[in-house]
Amino acid sequence: MPSSLQDWNDHFEHLYGRRNAHFLPGIGPRLRYFALALGDAQDAVRVKGVSGVYALAIARLVCRAFMLGHQYPDLPLVEAMVSRFGGSACGYCRKTPCDCPDVGRDDITLRTEADPHQAGKGLYFWQKHLNALYGEKNAQHGIQNILSRLFREYVEFQSIVDDTEQMCFREPGESVKTLSVKLAHELADVFAWIFALATALRVDAAKAVDDLYRAGCPDCKELPCICTNLEFRLADWKNLPPERRLTP
Ligand SMILES: [Zn+2]
Ligand SMILES: [Zn+2]
Repeated sequence: MPSSLQDWNDHFEHLYGRRNAHFLPGIGPRLRYFALALGDAQDAVRVKGVSGVYALAIARLVCRAFMLGHQYPDLPLVEAMVSRFGGSACGYCRKTPCDCPDVGRDDITLRTEADPHQAGKGLYFWQKHLNALYGEKNAQHGIQNILSRLFREYVEFQSIVDDTEQMCFREPGESVKTLSVKLAHELADVFAWIFALATALRVDAAKAVDDLYRAGCPDCKELPCICTNLEFRLADWKNLPPERRLTP
């Protein structure tokens, strides 16, 4: 049964790898698929009050973020999470909670004292840990800021994909391995903002993902999924059918 971040990564690959090979071939369709889940999350925030939509929106974001990573074999996502957000304090300002300036943090060097035990941690840990570091700041800036930061991290991931496809390597001597690390770091940022969004919406991301995906695909109920009905369409949260069928 999945518990660590790596376990969940592998669980989703097993659950949707075959389906995605047929219906989401390549990174382009997966990026569009993630963007739809992001649009759905924004709509969920707008139609607040419809019960259960926040948990569904968060679980789908997590699922589709893992699918982005699955496009690249052996993407060091867990290592990226640990090196970016591990340790016991903010990797930039060395404080808990983070006290970084709101702008210009990119100029400060990341100096995480990574704790190797954190590599085995799951979604619950990362949400709680990131909240201890950044929750106060995120709460001050509000949910729209979280949504726009999540969107920005998605765009940053996408821009590395674009550079790679156009062979525009930014640094001399850049290898497939360093590209893979870059992608993993951007994907880790995407995950961090999904956790921030979950916290802002009072959703336990680990529970939401567990409820929706542990036993199999929420739509076809199989593991691995046998669905052939992927819809590239935004969810209609207000008219969600009672059995909550949603393209996962
Ligand atoms: Zn900081
Ligand atoms: Zn299915």
